[in-house]
Amino acid sequence: MMRIAIAGCGQLARMLAVAGWEMGHQFAFIADRGESTDCVAGLGDVVQRDEHMSGTTLFEALGQPNVVTVEKEHVQVSMLEALAEYCRVAPGPEAIRTCQHRGREKALLRSLDIATAPFELVEDAAELTAAVNTLGFPAYVKSCEQGYDGQNQWRLHDTESLDRLAAEMHALPPLVVEGAVDFDRELSLIAVRSVSGDVATYPLSENRHREGILLTSEVPAPNVKAHTLKQAEHIAHTLLSHWSYVGVLSIELFDENGALRVNELAPRVHNSGHWSQDSGVTSQFSNHLRAITDVLPGATQPARHSGMINLLGTEPPADLLQTRDTNLHWYNKSVRNRRKVGHINVQADDRARLKQRLTEIEAVLYPSDEAL
Ligand code: AMP
Repeated sequence: MMRIAIAGCGQLARMLAVAGWEMGHQFAFIADRGESTDCVAGLGDVVQRDEHMSGTTLFEALGQPNVVTVEKEHVQVSMLEALAEYCRVAPGPEAIRTCQHRGREKALLRSLDIATAPFELVEDAAELTAAVNTLGFPAYVKSCEQGYDGQNQWRLHDTESLDRLAAEMHALPPLVVEGAVDFDRELSLIAVRSVSGDVATYPLSENRHREGILLTSEVPAPNVKAHTLKQAEHIAHTLLSHWSYVGVLSIELFDENGALRVNELAPRVHNSGHWSQDSGVTSQFSNHLRAITDVLPGATQPARHSGMINLLGTEPPADLLQTRDTNLHWYNKSVRNRRKVGHINVQADDRARLKQRLTEIEAVLYPSDEAL
């Protein structure tokens, strides 16, 4: 049994700790200034970090953890490096540094020969205009740092929208410009590698979004060709071994007629892996903890079909949960517009039934949505 410190206090920290309590681990959480700690209330000690705290002070305040891990990308890497003097930090600071910055991430993928959207990094208006002219409309422009769930992103359709953004460029951070990928669907792969180098992957998940935020995951993704699965596995193994990565690594993918391009990497457990909590396998949370405490990853291949639907700014009506095939996961957060406040996992014996149930639940939760 170990003492594990988690940088971050959100729902991913909550679900890691809930899984870890079962294994007898103890937890401490690192909260940044102003960060809400509601999700982890009662699950361990919370240490409010101040930026000038030394590594040793923080390590002591956390109760001398055996391992430090993260539940979010935007963690100060120098803090992780300082803690790495005293205990294991997994995943390693280098992987986290790379994933914090879309430019660095894309450059790494390119150097490892892993397909992405065509892209260029730009720092001023002239570079932006030149990149969009090369890559064409529509272009996806994303800030290199601090963008998630569709934030800090612009979809440029025409020269007017380009000129508008170019005029603001002096006030914007470095950006990455991507050419549009004409994908059929979005998939993700959750992979895990232990301290000893044992690797496991979950089946590909098919993911749908609502207003840029994940809405549903369906596992295993339907109609996955053997070469697509092989490519996904190859991408995962390449990245895991490049970093000697330890823990869960999540890979968001575009599927273009069976050929994959990486959209984004997340060096942590991921919303599209939540289905694993109720599907009769070792969940991504348990497997992350096993990996960082050097235990062989547990089973990742569910016997049944599994799905997940996010609760975005909404509480489920009670009768929606009076069903045998659903499990509610609630994050102990206040409900605000579009905020992820929980999710519902669903199991079914066949794919058609799973789709039907996800559609029914979606219609109850989001009655005003047009068909997506
Ligand atoms: P991201 O924050 O990078 O995951 O982007 C949010 C969403 O925008 C993705 O899930 C896609 O649906 C869409 N998107 C992002 N980049 C591209 C691209 N290069 N081509 C087409 N769609 C994209």
